[in-house]
Amino acid sequence: MNTQILTGILIPFLGTSLGAAMVFVLKDQISDGMQRTLTGFAAGVMVAASFWSLLQPALESSEGMGKLSFIPAAVGFLIGIGFLLFLDTVTPHMHMDEQVEGPEKPSN
Ligand SMILES: [Zn+2]
Repeated sequence: MNTQILTGILIPFLGTSLGAAMVFVLKDQISDGMQRTLTGFAAGVMVAASFWSLLQPALESSEGMGKLSFIPAAVGFLIGIGFLLFLDTVTPHMHMDEQVEGPEKPSN
């Protein structure tokens, strides 16, 4: 049991750490096309993970609502989109094309 927990924590940890470490290994060596491909791959993984780990269970857990069973998941999905749009507006940040967005950093 403890071995399963340790393995379940270590495998994602190592995968995430090794993936993030590629930033240092491949810095300035990766072509724009490869960067776009890897960014698209990461986006695909995130969309698949959000559907099969979050949206599908949300839909299945409200099956008792009949034809309206999609409403809780759809409302939560739209609230999540709105929350990210809100964060995009209120937090200073920079996009990959180095375009700066959000409020100005407060001056001291
Ligand atoms: Zn933004």
